[in-house]
Amino acid sequence: MESSSSAAIAVSSLTEEELTLIVKWSGKEYTLRVCGDDSVAELKRRICEFTNVLPKRQKLLYPKVSAKLADDSLLLSQIPIKSSIKMTMIGTVEDEIILDPVESPEIIDDFEFGQEEAVEIKDKEVNKQKLRRRFDQYKIKLRTPCREGKKLLVLDIDYTLFDHRSTAENPVELMRPYLHEFLTAAYAEYDIMIWSATSMKWVELKMGELGVLNNPNYKITALLDHLAMITVQSASGRILDCKPLGLIWGHFPEFYSAKNTIMFDDLRRNFVMNPQNGLKIKPFKRAHANRDSDQELVKLTQYLLAIADLDDLTTLDHNSWELFNEDNAKRRRHA
Ligand code: MG
Repeated sequence: MESSSSAAIAVSSLTEEELTLIVKWSGKEYTLRVCGDDSVAELKRRICEFTNVLPKRQKLLYPKVSAKLADDSLLLSQIPIKSSIKMTMIGTVEDEIILDPVESPEIIDDFEFGQEEAVEIKDKEVNKQKLRRRFDQYKIKLRTPCREGKKLLVLDIDYTLFDHRSTAENPVELMRPYLHEFLTAAYAEYDIMIWSATSMKWVELKMGELGVLNNPNYKITALLDHLAMITVQSASGRILDCKPLGLIWGHFPEFYSAKNTIMFDDLRRNFVMNPQNGLKIKPFKRAHANRDSDQELVKLTQYLLAIADLDDLTTLDHNSWELFNEDNAKRRRHA
């Protein structure tokens, strides 16, 4: 009994231990603080903050453990690295490679979480700590003030508003149909934030090209990028990136909370820190074939407006949003 509890203490102090790392890149040295319970993916995000080299473009070199540093899911406490030895990063800033977006590997594995596992992830102390650390590090820049009495809609970009895997002469051809109508209608009841797992440069570029950032009919309250995400672990040891809404609620507690926020994303795992607030939408792929038939944003507009009067959105099950729409239509027909 005694030995197992001291072992547990040893492990937890090891994982929470902070470590100073020196990373060399392109002739410069960067000093950063990481934790044992950070994953390699998080280390790469920290390096990206300093260097602007996207995590997927980084190759990390360190004596004897370079292979382990290629596995984004490993925790730093599982890799023998020391402050005294410098790490080398090889990678190119995206400006120089902006013309080859197809190279990025497609995320195909969207874990399907049971409600239980999602709850267990969001309540895990180590994950809450990560959220607190991210909250301290990441500043959300408002493009327009938060509005009193409005709810909050948080939107993913890739496969949600835009088909980033197809190619076209004009990016507008890859835009999900009815995007501007959807944003205009939602804006009446919701402040809108856009949160993408790519870099801020891409978010601004894509949204600018689609005419979302200067539209006369609605305003975007804020843009968030991959640096605002956290990497969490489940009890079964699965490690995944997600978009914790607590980061936004912590910054603007007088405006937004779990009760008035809804988030649309094509990947369910992005919701694991706030499963009750997420609505998994049908991904918009193969834009050229589906542009004429995709009605998802029209139907989602109906849903958003139908629930806008509710005081507490957490009473809803967003998994059955389409059913809710049908019932709502029936009620109106019979009224
Ligand atoms: Mg997406």
